[in-house]
Amino acid sequence: MPRFRQILDTMAAYKPGKAVVAPDGRSYKLSSNESPYDPLPSVVEAIAEGARQIHRYPDAGSVKLTEAIAERFGVPAGHIALGAGSVTVAQQLFETIGDPGAEVVYAWRSFEAYPLLADLAGVTSVQVPLAGEDHDLDAMAEAINDRTRMVFVCNPNNPTGTAIRRAELETFLDRVPDDVLVVLDEAYREYVRDEDVPDGLTLYRDRPNVAVLRTFSKAYGLAGLRVGYVIAAEPVATAVRKTTVPFAVNHLAQVAAIASLEAQDELLERVEHVVKERTRVREALISQGWTVPPTEANFVWLRLGERTPAFAAACAVEGVAVRPFGVEGVRVTIGSPEDNDAFLAAAQAFRD
Ligand SMILES: *Cc1c(COP(=O)(O)O)cnc(C)c1O
Repeated sequence: MPRFRQILDTMAAYKPGKAVVAPDGRSYKLSSNESPYDPLPSVVEAIAEGARQIHRYPDAGSVKLTEAIAERFGVPAGHIALGAGSVTVAQQLFETIGDPGAEVVYAWRSFEAYPLLADLAGVTSVQVPLAGEDHDLDAMAEAINDRTRMVFVCNPNNPTGTAIRRAELETFLDRVPDDVLVVLDEAYREYVRDEDVPDGLTLYRDRPNVAVLRTFSKAYGLAGLRVGYVIAAEPVATAVRKTTVPFAVNHLAQVAAIASLEAQDELLERVEHVVKERTRVREALISQGWTVPPTEANFVWLRLGERTPAFAAACAVEGVAVRPFGVEGVRVTIGSPEDNDAFLAAAQAFRD
């Protein structure tokens, strides 16, 4: 029997959100923060057209997509590195810093991929408990030491939905040593409406140790194609590109992402509908008597403690898939109005 790395026996496996089906066949998948909308016809067309070239390898450098992103955000193409989903880019970031003994600091609870990627990279996780539902940036700054090589800041935070404002984030960044990479994971940036929550792209320009992680999976609706990217100063982006597995971003993902940037106005209109539904869902939950932290993402968080598994099970009976986290709470994606009504009915029934 081959000897495997010991960490494989103990590391947490990533648990993807599951769909559930009610006895009468109804099914509402609110467990993975996906877009509730079908892909845009123009994007499907680009993919269909792209299918004619799949006997060829994709453009290894994703040149056209990189240029489209550079133009969209007004950043140099050299500041962009792409990957097969931003989780893969995050994995590459770990590879760029992962010497033996290295530590990564991040809040907990936060995105469940962080501990997994740290374990895989042989990097030690230093998890700093949330203060209430928010990042405790003071405690995170204090957790940084000589071994710290990277910090993840998930803004807004998955799964609590809370967001860090500019002043506190800038104060934190000022406290981080220059040789520690700070990754601002902005997977939900397009859903942010609080104007005090900074766009990471306004912070990275004069901070060579700040990297902004973005994805086409959520607001852009391309979760099934796997494409994400990091924007950071040239040395960071170059280091990430060095860790790329050749041809990681496939041809269909590249053409679909380009078509999505071209259809951006239409997609952002959809995001606006989700944001309106977010307000409706949160207010309805509060009037049902639940405590719901303010959210800047496409989901809400209910800290249910011991009631978490029972709540998720009660939703499943109604065909509503939510994402339970142990005995901490559930994260519920904002879906279509019909999805959200089904969830609100299940939540009300649980209280009755
Ligand atoms: C969904 C999500 C991602 C995006 O993952 P992809 O690999 O791009 O699909 C990244 N970070 C966070 C915090 C997320 O919730």
